Amino acid sequence: MDIFSSFENQWTITGIIRLASAFRIGGGQNAAAYSLSASPVIQSYNAEKNMYLPVILGSSLKGVLRTGVERLVRSFKIEESCVALTSDRDVKRLCGNCVTCGLFGSMKRGSKICVDDAQIPAGDIKTVYDPATVHEQPHYASSSSGPAQRGRREGLLRSEETVAAGTRFEFRIRLDNATKTEAGLILLALQEFNEKRLQIGGAVSRGLGFIDVIDLKVEKASVGESGKISSMTANVKNLKQKAKEYLTNIDAKKDSGLNDFSVYAFAHERISPGTGQKNGHTVARFTVITRLPFKMAGFDESTVTNYHEPYIPGSTIKGFLRHRFAAEYEDKNAGAQQFSGGKGMPHSPPRPSRTDEIFGDTRNHRSRILVSDAFSMKKVTANDEIPINTILQMWMVFDNMQGSDIDKILNLIKEPVVITGSKSAGIDRRARRFKPTHNLVEFTLDPKDVTIFRTDTYLIECDPSN
Ligand SMILES: [Zn+2]
Repeated sequence: MDIFSSFENQWTITGIIRLASAFRIGGGQNAAAYSLSASPVIQSYNAEKNMYLPVILGSSLKGVLRTGVERLVRSFKIEESCVALTSDRDVKRLCGNCVTCGLFGSMKRGSKICVDDAQIPAGDIKTVYDPATVHEQPHYASSSSGPAQRGRREGLLRSEETVAAGTRFEFRIRLDNATKTEAGLILLALQEFNEKRLQIGGAVSRGLGFIDVIDLKVEKASVGESGKISSMTANVKNLKQKAKEYLTNIDAKKDSGLNDFSVYAFAHERISPGTGQKNGHTVARFTVITRLPFKMAGFDESTVTNYHEPYIPGSTIKGFLRHRFAAEYEDKNAGAQQFSGGKGMPHSPPRPSRTDEIFGDTRNHRSRILVSDAFSMKKVTANDEIPINTILQMWMVFDNMQGSDIDKILNLIKEPVVITGSKSAGIDRRARRFKPTHNLVEFTLDPKDVTIFRTDTYLIECDPSN
């Protein structure tokens, strides 16, 4: 029953979101009250502390949870859920009848779910606010990240505010008159964050918005026989199990194409042992070792830092991969052929390159590869560079990709590589200094740190966080 006029039950899901990488939800023009940044993050005023603090908007969290539930459900049976947003930004009409419309609402019905803005826990706010929490970060907007261009220009250095990795937020989600299965689906969507299959906020392809959801608690209030409302703690594991039973029952055992990001591609494909087949949605957790000290200038700092700790930006690693991928695998003449039209002559729109299809472009292609920042597991002792032989950790997400393309990318980082431009790496060809002094890094990947979304393993997997 989901008529809102009568109270049947209310689920309250609470927990902590810990930013595993930096995060941003843009503040737009209204942010002028608390930020001078050209690209500020949204913050809200805390009257008690008399300061502005970053916030994760409830509407943003709700939106991304909807995407998470849709993708899970549709991977089992595509007709079971409609899609609220598509990657090409078409506004689709919500069907009003499916499981996600029931939970998250549509034009026909209200929403069962209510998501509060997630705030920094009171205990985490210092008396003097740490300005490193919201930090201006550089990123190079590569001029190649658009349709093929005639003249290649230098990348533009832009800056944007982000909320630092490690920052924590308390969240609260309420569900009115929902079933155990529905509550379980929300918990499964929250687990998708921990699996790094779901991110929040903007610039996720450059590695922003990776989060961990911890300290989950579920309370269920319901009306007893006597008409009294009683509250009890619900078992997270059991609710997820309930939702997985539902997914098992709807499973149509049919895959849809690579280009539908509202499903996990190849989710039903079975890997025969030894074939090394990697088609699908793949998350890889890399160990990164600095084989030379790493240094890359930030704004007003000699190297980029997060809470005063130096790190390697995901945008730098992604930029390196994009550049190398194009150099290694693209047909050198393809660009020239596309622009056969002379000055002022109409020409057919350029065909997107494989590089654009994988790394994204500003017009049509969502990036299939997401590269997180690389962080040291221990405190970095120097704050002007990352010392040699420091061990860092990062994620790469290959979103609905062919195994052969994933292999191509992994091939680019088989050997230690210099991941920045020559200048930052200390190479100066004119001065005949060819050996880098900085920024040589080694990527290693343990096969047990690779997860591919497959329906069979997903249904039997237990969640280590609970
Ligand atoms: Zn629907």
